[in-house]
Amino acid sequence: MPINVRLLDHTSDPTRSLYLAYRVAYSALTPQQIADRIASEKISRAEMEEFIEKRLQTGHASPLEQVWFEFGISGVSRAFSHQFVRHHVGISFEQQSQRYVAFKKGEFPYTVPETVKRAGMANKMEEAFERLGELYQEMIDAGIPAEDARFLVPNAANTNFKVTVNFLELLHICDLRLCTRAQWEFRQVASQMRAEIHRKFPELAKYIQPKCGDKRWGYCDESLEDWEKCPIGKKRPHKQQLFDLFEQYRRGQLAPMEEGDFAVIEEIGSSVVHATQPPGFLKTQDETPPSTRDEG
Ligand SMILES: Cc1cc2nc3c(=O)[nH]c(=O)nc-3n(C[C@H](O)[C@H](O)[C@H](O)COP(=O)(O)OP(=O)(O)OC[C@H]3O[C@@H](n4cnc5c(N)ncnc54)[C@H](O)[C@@H]3O)c2cc1C
Repeated sequence: MPINVRLLDHTSDPTRSLYLAYRVAYSALTPQQIADRIASEKISRAEMEEFIEKRLQTGHASPLEQVWFEFGISGVSRAFSHQFVRHHVGISFEQQSQRYVAFKKGEFPYTVPETVKRAGMANKMEEAFERLGELYQEMIDAGIPAEDARFLVPNAANTNFKVTVNFLELLHICDLRLCTRAQWEFRQVASQMRAEIHRKFPELAKYIQPKCGDKRWGYCDESLEDWEKCPIGKKRPHKQQLFDLFEQYRRGQLAPMEEGDFAVIEEIGSSVVHATQPPGFLKTQDETPPSTRDEG
């Protein structure tokens, strides 16, 4: 059974709710007055989005709790669901029961991982599940309740969820579960959640990233070894690199500002300089700073 994630419902206008919550914190106006200003379109969508972006950069995150999303999730394994329900703050779950829903004729839907298929062992796995299904049915026929017969059911068995999650927790879940270190099935569910939000609210979906993303922490906090193995690791710095930079700073080894730098500052006018070399502050004193100025 393939994984399927669908956004079933949501806060009616997430951008409005977020803006309203943030504005209340920073305004002398009452929430009612702010709501009226939004309703009368005195504030444009672009203004609301810009305000939200700026506030998010400060780490003020509690307004995100006021926006909720409802998802239907099906075709996921019990191996996934054990991990999913470990997230418990800002998310509510309802999961298909193995007590109240008995598998008819002992047939339970299940997931066969790609690695098992690639190893040519899918048939063996399926045969084992068939035998378990037959024994399950035998137990049900013998009067054993489904809640006890289910002790036979493997982690591969599929299950369904209806969840409601607030935006703060969705970002947190995706911080962890869009990381390439997360289990593949959870990465697929998190990716589908992101795609569903993107379909309706691209302005919010841009914040849904793994924790190393430019809109999240911006660096990787996994082990250096895992960072080296990560296919997208090269695009994001590892925390060790940031510590190394701080250590250089502490020891006074960062490249000093030079006359050439001041000349650049003086001469750039209103243009933005697009440096082709790394910025000078990233260089140590031993290294020759890049020539930033044509001495003519
Ligand atoms: C790659 C990976 C591997 C993992 N491996 C294992 C494993 O081997 N074994 C295992 O048991 N688990 C494992 N986990 C699960 C992990 O330990 C967490 O239980 C899970 O990710 C839920 O996240 P959370 O604690 O942030 O909970 P959430 O409910 O998502 O919490 C959100 C935030 O709320 C705060 N919070 C949550 N609970 C509390 C609390 N009780 N007190 C104070 N603040 C709280 C924290 O700031 C937390 O980050 C793994 C997770 C990942 C991503």
